[in-house]
Amino acid sequence: MDKIVLRDFSKEEQKKFFQSKYDYYKKFNMRMVTVAVLAYLSFFITDCSIFGHFAYETLLSRAIVIVPFFVYVILTKKVTDYRVMVFATYLMIHIIIWCTDWATYLLPDRQFAIPGMIIMNIIFVCAGFSAPFLYSMIAHMFLIVDIAVANIFIQYENLEMMYLFNLPCVLAIGAMHYMMQGVYFEHYVAKDSLKQLAVRDQLTGVYNRNILKEIYDASAGRLVFAPDLSVSMLLIDIDFFKKVNDEFGHEDGDKVIVHIANTLRSNVRATDYVIRWGGEEFLIIMPGCPSEQAIRIAGMLREKVEQSDNGICKTTISIGIAMYGGGDYHDTIKNADDAMYMAKNNGRNQVVSFEEDLKNN
Ligand code: GH3
Ligand code: MG
Ligand code: MG
Repeated sequence: MDKIVLRDFSKEEQKKFFQSKYDYYKKFNMRMVTVAVLAYLSFFITDCSIFGHFAYETLLSRAIVIVPFFVYVILTKKVTDYRVMVFATYLMIHIIIWCTDWATYLLPDRQFAIPGMIIMNIIFVCAGFSAPFLYSMIAHMFLIVDIAVANIFIQYENLEMMYLFNLPCVLAIGAMHYMMQGVYFEHYVAKDSLKQLAVRDQLTGVYNRNILKEIYDASAGRLVFAPDLSVSMLLIDIDFFKKVNDEFGHEDGDKVIVHIANTLRSNVRATDYVIRWGGEEFLIIMPGCPSEQAIRIAGMLREKVEQSDNGICKTTISIGIAMYGGGDYHDTIKNADDAMYMAKNNGRNQVVSFEEDLKNN
């Protein structure tokens, strides 16, 4: 198989990748910014040493950084979107740089600008872990702009050296971030394929029960779909399947199960979840599907299975439908199961809705 690269991903998949990258390094990012702020504050001691007394001259330019840092900490707790947080992280770093320029402007001796820049470049290295490569490259490039602007006030004695030192740093760190993104990408793809293996049924390729852990928010005690969305559930059982096994053998029985799984999957929307619930039972969860529509779809699936040729024998299915009303999804499955058993008792090869046919009778 060809090696997958980030360019092969759709825009949506790329966003998911960058979000995952940010989430993975989020804690590290927060600690790194904290260390950068503490390091910046500790330079006040250096200021005192340069002035030879308590450096009240640079006190404000040093202490002020606590304000944006406080906002940044709150933002990290409240905002999850990587685009906002990566922007906020780099803004925080640039604020530290601007405050450094301010403090440098006030200092009587400005020969420490380049050692200061080494530290800033290290901070850019760390920030790149959680950021998309392009963001980190652009944000780091702004360091050159910062130097040009700061020079208007500070008039560096060694401006040329500032550029000659920082430009290669930006390029080298950029190259490093590009490679680091590749490393995280491999990790992401491996993690994703393991996750896919864990939620897929090996025989049929449809989901297995583990997918429910992914779409159930345990802390909220409900499925992850929007509360105002109608969610219908179809419980499907193959009719007289024991006979298929008895007459044609287990292997052909498996082929029938695979054929029905394919029929179900190819006739519902990509956003619906087709799950192998048990041996020859399937559960379909359809978000955004009201009761009448679910009854229509279930009828269509029943007909498709009855009419399609699975190469072994004529097969039919019985379907129970129930609507998810929030809370524990097991209650809905129990209702769909009751409806399905009614379909069995009524003669099989039919659809019964819990809400329409069972609840009020
Ligand atoms: P009903 O119409 O009442 O559903 O009758 P049934 O014979 O289909 O009864 P039931 O649903 O209880 O049958 C389940 C059978 O499915 C039992 C088991 O032998 C068979 N089965 C379960 N899992 C598999 C599997 O993975 N492969 C095969 N070939 N058979 C399976
Ligand atoms: Mg069964
Ligand atoms: Mg059965």
